[in-house]
Amino acid sequence: MLGTGILKGLYITAKNLVGSYYSSERLTTIQYPEQRAQLPENYRNFPFLVYDGEDAIDGLRCTACKMCEKECPPQCIYIIPERDEKGKLQKKPKVFDIDISVCMGCGICAEVCPFESIKMDHHFEVAQRNRFAGLLLHREQLAKSNKYYHSIRPKEATAVDESLAEEKRKAEEKAKAAAAAKEAAAKAAAAKAADAAKAKTDDLEEKKN
Ligand code: SF4
Ligand code: SF4
Repeated sequence: MLGTGILKGLYITAKNLVGSYYSSERLTTIQYPEQRAQLPENYRNFPFLVYDGEDAIDGLRCTACKMCEKECPPQCIYIIPERDEKGKLQKKPKVFDIDISVCMGCGICAEVCPFESIKMDHHFEVAQRNRFAGLLLHREQLAKSNKYYHSIRPKEATAVDESLAEEKRKAEEKAKAAAAAKEAAAKAAAAKAADAAKAKTDDLEEKKN
């Protein structure tokens, strides 16, 4: 029948309107900012950089590989890697800026990062009077602890911790195996040299006799 859909819609609206006075489940709005809705874990806003340990800069997981900078569609990430006193590149960023007035919150940077360093934040109250400098976030503002990461994305952060621990375990095992192989090779070389020296001495002794 013509108009049934409209009537159904009006019925649902009226039911929720009246019901909202009796059941908070039917309330679709809250008194923000006094009240705050629980954001779903996968909600994403702007990116931040995860650090481990106590020092926000030394503990950054970022290796300044620039993968995120390259893949960011609107090109709003800017990275300069750190260098040592001899000018050798270091695996950490000296400058890491994100212009969040340009960032579209796509999350591609977080997806492509091979070091679990850049993640998407839940923080959305970022309005500033100065739309240029105020929205250009630097390394110091972007750095947030792994504890914070766990507080907003507990499942994801736990999975990341497990995967990083597994990677570390494998790397340690590999290093241990390589060290053992190196030691065995050194021992074999030393034994060979000793055998050669002994053979030479025996030879000389034989000639003397
Ligand atoms: S969320 Fe998207 S737009 Fe924003 S910095 Fe990451 S890749 Fe760039
Ligand atoms: S955040 Fe990740 S992808 Fe971006 S430079 Fe750092 S390590 Fe590379």
